[in-house]
Amino acid sequence: MNIPLLDLKEQYYAIKDEVDAAIEGVLENGQFILGPQVRALEHDIASYVGVPYAIGVGNGTDALVIALRACGIGPGDEVITSPFTFFASAESISAVGAKPVFVDIDPDTFNIDASKIEQTITSRTRAIIPVHLFGQSADMDAIMDIARKHDLMVIEDACQAMGAEYKGRKAGSFGHAACFSFFPTKNLGTYGDGGMIVTGDADIDKKARMLRAHGSTRKYYHEMIGYNSRLDELHAAILNVKFKYLDQWNDMRRHNAKVYDALLKDTGITVPYAAPYAKHIYHQYVVQCDDRDGLAAALKAKGVATGVYYPLPLHLQDAYKDLGYKRGDMPCAEAACDRVLAMPMYPELERHQIEYVADAVRELIRKG
Ligand SMILES: *Cc1c(COP(=O)(O)O)cnc(C)c1O
Repeated sequence: MNIPLLDLKEQYYAIKDEVDAAIEGVLENGQFILGPQVRALEHDIASYVGVPYAIGVGNGTDALVIALRACGIGPGDEVITSPFTFFASAESISAVGAKPVFVDIDPDTFNIDASKIEQTITSRTRAIIPVHLFGQSADMDAIMDIARKHDLMVIEDACQAMGAEYKGRKAGSFGHAACFSFFPTKNLGTYGDGGMIVTGDADIDKKARMLRAHGSTRKYYHEMIGYNSRLDELHAAILNVKFKYLDQWNDMRRHNAKVYDALLKDTGITVPYAAPYAKHIYHQYVVQCDDRDGLAAALKAKGVATGVYYPLPLHLQDAYKDLGYKRGDMPCAEAACDRVLAMPMYPELERHQIEYVADAVRELIRKG
């Protein structure tokens, strides 16, 4: 049997008629940039997350860059984030001229360890970017308390967490702004690049709207240096179709995670930890074991695809040599990079496929 990490084609076939009609509708309509599809998606995502404003942009990385700029972050500022995340969480900070400052993760949730944030705050610290990694919210109460106490902005990197919740409230509704990605593999993804900023702040909304369109509100009159970063109508039309299925798909992911948990829990590998405050939507189902590379190779030989998110923490990336970090500075993130393995996870994954993966793991562990 061959089991992929995710299966976008199967999902496409399930909604093909609707998606094809939506694409055709945009082609017939002839409005391709910032039209009714983008406006509808912005409206629906804002109300889904529970905030007044949403701004469609070119991708999740641009969402972070534009959110940082709209929050007034720039050269000379320090922004705290996690070293165990996709590169863009920190890259966006550098892109606006600010300096990323890393705080180690909680080894159970893989998210930034809020108890270690305060010791890294300096007079230059202006913001925190918590990342809701793998579909599980960071500890937002603790993070927002620290932010209030030190007068910091909070921009949630919710690129892996559309629909995740913290204490019953949607991820993305806590910070001054939050960012989503519609990259094809995200749990709400389009067939290309796309992203969204959400915010409860009218001023951040206004600035983000200007920044995504060359710093202008009125064509050919520019108030600031911005970007060309709009969500395309075609992608918004596809996402308007897929958005209707988001909760159902997230429930299917959660169900699949439960099946995995039950089948893997006594095999000696560590299954994902779901914090009591979190509604985890399992963007990824990430296990841990000592011989991660051995397990990955053995599963591959049995036709099971796996992934390593992420093999190298951000503080040890070549691009961040100048920041002066060394191995040992972020022990929990470094250990996670050596131990994590993402199992096949997507809504349409079937029980017999999960059983096949679990049987393979069990057999490999038994053989040592
Ligand atoms: C995917 C992702 C991004 C970037 O999103 P793009 O749309 O690929 O630019 C940023 N942060 C995290 C945590 C992500 O997973």
